[in-house]
Amino acid sequence: MKQSNMLLPTLREIPSDAEIKSHQLLVRAGFIRQVASGLYSFLPMGKRVLRKVEDIVREEMDAAGANEMIMPALQPSELWKETGRWDTFGPELMRIHDRHEREFALGATHEEVITSIVRDEINSYKKLPLTVYQIQSKFRDEKRPRFGLLRGREFLMKDAYSFHENFESLDETYDRLYTAYSNIFRRCGLNFRAVIADSGAMGGKDTHEFMVLSEIGEDTIAYSDTSEFAANIEMAPVADSYTKQTGEEKALEKVSTPNQKTMQEVADYLGHDLSEGLKALMFKVDDRFVLVVTRGDHEVNDIKLKNLYNASIVELASEEETLNIMKAGFGSLGPINVPNDVEVIADYAVKYVLNASCGANEDGHHYINVNPNRDFQVKEYADLRFIQEGDQSPDGQGTIKFAKGIEVGHIFKLGTFYSEKMNASYLDQNGRANPMIMGCYGIGVSRTVAAVVEQFHDENGMTWPTNVAPFHVHVLALNVKKDEQRELAEKIYETLKNAGVEVLYDDRQERAGVKFADSDLIGIPLRITVGKRADEGYVECKFRRTGEQQDLHESDILNVVT
Ligand code: ATP
Ligand code: MG
Ligand code: MG
Ligand code: MG
Repeated sequence: MKQSNMLLPTLREIPSDAEIKSHQLLVRAGFIRQVASGLYSFLPMGKRVLRKVEDIVREEMDAAGANEMIMPALQPSELWKETGRWDTFGPELMRIHDRHEREFALGATHEEVITSIVRDEINSYKKLPLTVYQIQSKFRDEKRPRFGLLRGREFLMKDAYSFHENFESLDETYDRLYTAYSNIFRRCGLNFRAVIADSGAMGGKDTHEFMVLSEIGEDTIAYSDTSEFAANIEMAPVADSYTKQTGEEKALEKVSTPNQKTMQEVADYLGHDLSEGLKALMFKVDDRFVLVVTRGDHEVNDIKLKNLYNASIVELASEEETLNIMKAGFGSLGPINVPNDVEVIADYAVKYVLNASCGANEDGHHYINVNPNRDFQVKEYADLRFIQEGDQSPDGQGTIKFAKGIEVGHIFKLGTFYSEKMNASYLDQNGRANPMIMGCYGIGVSRTVAAVVEQFHDENGMTWPTNVAPFHVHVLALNVKKDEQRELAEKIYETLKNAGVEVLYDDRQERAGVKFADSDLIGIPLRITVGKRADEGYVECKFRRTGEQQDLHESDILNVVT
């Protein structure tokens, strides 16, 4: 590609609204432009990188046995009403209506649409398991769109959904996609960690987030310095402040023992408005289950048990009843996969905590993390506290450290929440109908682009890893008015292009200083500069990341590049 033909508007100034490096650099280097808050156009360079990430995602998803499809972004409200999420998803769901006043959502996610397709098309165990995915724009009316591509209101997501006869099959697919995700982020060059993002008591195996390690990450990860243990700590409970603030007596004061079945009913009973952002914490203390329902107004990343000041405590009658509530699901969170072996949990003095947030908080999702009461053997209720740096790791190996992370992927065992509500069942070998067991798997494709820039830049610009670089080689003709420079640069450009190398050729009539600065900013891995020694056939090769450089004869270039 010749640079003179490209829409590649670079800027010297840092855009005033861009707080973080990836946002600043992607704008300055002419990869993206903002259209409105949280809405971005990808200019040609940005689009090339986006496509590289997409291609990696596609290859790994296909290799994992998933089939690509595409669903409409526009979704009828009826589907969302079937699962109740029309009400529980909150204001993050963008809603519009057509000329006949019919309501629609702009897809924030596609569980409802895919479940409606599968329920119509699949009815036998013989056609299971099945995994499908799409790469598509998603819409979420984020409370605070910010950080450029990291938190947009329209963004590119890969979302996948799997359907199974039983949990063993779900586990297999989940594990395969876990591996695929690891491959994807590794191929993108990222330094990442898969962390437990657990929705409760179940040993932390039911949901993982893939976190790119970065100072500007909005999530905090607790990880062991010597083992594989890593978990999101967004909302681990703090007993210290819990007891200090409320006193155990008061905390355990009974509000009632109603027979709640869903979070919505709990909310209704307590007169809470789910849209305010309701949060439920479930504790098992000795033999009692305690559901703590708190009012909203918590900020994402600042969800602490200070909310317990306004908490309502509901003591639940029995383990069975509690499990029923968990299975029924918590608002937008959906059901909790309750394992068959609940007994395992009973080893703990404080058996477990279930953290769930529902309704219209900024995230629109759940916050589940390291649970001291699950991951640690906490002897007494009053000892519950947030996991802290320096604690022993829950797996007994090593010491806990904290790091900041950007969530680029999330995999989740859904169970039968959607299939039961939407009647997606299959006939088993004995001809009996059962609800399908589901999983869902997301990757923020556009967010991943920004995450790569967060990890790969220096003071002069971006330093793309080869696999996702917009081009592999940047050829600069320092002075295109000089025939020997222009001719040699063009020859090298053609040679590389014919050899299948992705090459950008700076053929512009600009000063050398401008070309170098733009080239550093754009960050293509290898630069070939054709300058003063063009008449001898010599050029300068420079690796963007390391700064390593050497003079090469033009006849050796192909050997170095390919
Ligand atoms: P977050 O916690 O950052 O709000 P999420 O948990 O709401 O993300 P998921 O519902 O798990 O997001 O969606 C799957 C993936 O989509 C996320 O892991 C993330 O990479 C990406 N994603 C989610 N929201 C956005 C957004 N507003 N802009 C860009 N990417 C996003
Ligand atoms: Mg979110
Ligand atoms: Mg999240
Ligand atoms: Mg998530």
